[in-house]
Amino acid sequence: MTSLPPLIPFISPVFPAPDDIAADFATIIDSNWYTNFGPFERRFRERIEQWVGAPAHAATFANATVALMSAAVEVFGKGDGRRIVLIPSYTFAAGAEAIEWAGHKAAFIDIDEMSLQPSVAGAREALERYGTRVAGVLLCNSFGIANAQIDAWEALCQEYSVPLLVDSAAGFGSTYRDGTPLGLRGSAEVFSFHATKPMAIGEGGAVLTRDPELAARLRSAQNFGFEEMRGAQRLGLNGKLQEINAAIGLRQLDVLGDALSGRRAVLERYRQSLEPMGWTTPTGIADSSVCFATMIAPSEADRDGASAALAASRIEARHYYSPPVHEHAFFADRVRIGDLAVTRSTVGRVLSLPVHQAMSAESTDAVVAAVVQGSNW
Ligand SMILES: *Cc1c(COP(=O)(O)O)cnc(C)c1O
Repeated sequence: MTSLPPLIPFISPVFPAPDDIAADFATIIDSNWYTNFGPFERRFRERIEQWVGAPAHAATFANATVALMSAAVEVFGKGDGRRIVLIPSYTFAAGAEAIEWAGHKAAFIDIDEMSLQPSVAGAREALERYGTRVAGVLLCNSFGIANAQIDAWEALCQEYSVPLLVDSAAGFGSTYRDGTPLGLRGSAEVFSFHATKPMAIGEGGAVLTRDPELAARLRSAQNFGFEEMRGAQRLGLNGKLQEINAAIGLRQLDVLGDALSGRRAVLERYRQSLEPMGWTTPTGIADSSVCFATMIAPSEADRDGASAALAASRIEARHYYSPPVHEHAFFADRVRIGDLAVTRSTVGRVLSLPVHQAMSAESTDAVVAAVVQGSNW
């Protein structure tokens, strides 16, 4: 046991200068408008719509989890526990939890080995087997990496007439293979602006959609389901984004382009050193916002050796997503499509390395040296 702080932390969020945040807060106090769709929230909403590009319509949220909950209800409908929503097991638990809050049951599909992203074949198998019991698909652009087969996903969901919701939580700033930003696929895409994500405002989130009516329903849903003064028109909750977080978001958007270039440069340095040694990266990671550098080791022994060497050098690294969601106690009895063989065989080889938006070559070299030393079996 060591109580020393890491020499290289896993993430290192960069926030606006305290004076800038203070100036924004003074403006908020002047207007006496702290939340409930104030001027900062409105400008932030417009700016994220512009970032994604036409025809994007946005609803901001207090965080991505309430955004997923509201979007799950609006896109899949409120269920009575009898239907399932397909989701990969290899992801963060919030998506599966949102499915359950919406009254459906999560049903886990496998991933593709090269991309670590949910497998279209697994979803097709589930749709064939469960038919109308499937209320929808919650596709995860895991690690904020765009699914390279998004066209096939949309076609599959259209063929079976099931709605497609996309969890792009870490992917604000990522692009699909055709160069378009994440945010315009499926019925809607959900983003997180948590302090740990590349686009960080503390707590915050957003749903982006091509459908202006869905965006309007989501703005209502996050405000108790109210519309104007007429009370609850739908199942709502309180998911509103505060003005101060929107103000931070506006300043973060000004520097997001530079932050993304910095992150992609770090990833590139890791790849140049580690790919010759047999490590690989998930397909499409270079076009992502690079929330961290997820690498796939040649073997579990290499991954575990590298992890031990990193820990000994006081460098923080993570084993995502371990355990995968189907192994979490709450989801233990949920349907699995097939035996999730790729999820189970891959999770032990994945190692996520630290990425900071302004990370020195000295730091990335130290990370690489530890990985090389530990994995040289
Ligand atoms: C971070 C993350 C979330 C949760 O976002 P919050 O804003 O913290 O609620 C959900 N899904 C995925 C895939 C994530 O990476």
